Amino acid sequence: MSDLVCAARRLTRMDSLPAGRDSSASPSSKQELSYPNPKNLKPNQVGETVLYGIPIVSLVIDGQERLCLAQISNTLLKNYSYNEIHNRRVALGITCVQCTPVQLEILRRAGAMPISSRRCGMITKREAERLCKSFLGAHSPPKLPENFAFDVSHECAWGSRGSFIPTRYNSSRAKCIKCSYCNMYFSPNKFIFHSHRTPDSKYTQPDAANFNSWRRHLKLTDKGCQTEILHAWEDVKNTYMYLLVRFIVLP
Ligand SMILES: [Zn+2]
Repeated sequence: MSDLVCAARRLTRMDSLPAGRDSSASPSSKQELSYPNPKNLKPNQVGETVLYGIPIVSLVIDGQERLCLAQISNTLLKNYSYNEIHNRRVALGITCVQCTPVQLEILRRAGAMPISSRRCGMITKREAERLCKSFLGAHSPPKLPENFAFDVSHECAWGSRGSFIPTRYNSSRAKCIKCSYCNMYFSPNKFIFHSHRTPDSKYTQPDAANFNSWRRHLKLTDKGCQTEILHAWEDVKNTYMYLLVRFIVLP
């Protein structure tokens, strides 16, 4: 909670918001200060939410983020028939909101569904979780060994490599990454500004406008990680997501 208050106080500009978030609100408005309350989402705003490790397109309908049932059916629940999914949804008392033609077009463009789809029902994230849970069972976060660390790298400037220690990541600014070269600890946002010139590193001009988004720059070093590790990494990246976007990082 202190993080939140802090975030609201520190807020001076909005340009570090990720795509899909409302960037038009005035920083001084009351509504803005209540962020991350999802109520100030813009109608038809497209987003993405990770369900059981799969990114699903979301759309803001009546002030609420809703997920595309067709996409959930075609991905997470692809082993079940249309009727099975329909019957289960009804049994769980989950009501679908049908999208308007405009919303349908937005969803198609976002890649949530094929061009040929004529209609799509939208359900809330909570409902989507209930529906998927009824088919797939509880999604308990993967158990990572104690003292587990993700081996991460970034390629900003000369690049660097480090160990992201999830147990140390207890706030958006926690120094949870230990640099593999100098053994110093950094927060994720600071770590992407930290690089070492090694014999085989090549310089990549940092993409200044988006340099704040460590989630995009910081990657698992090992490309062939087990699914469990990949899911855990997604979960870790989603933690503090709405808080972190409020901080301005000065280089
Ligand atoms: Zn270092």
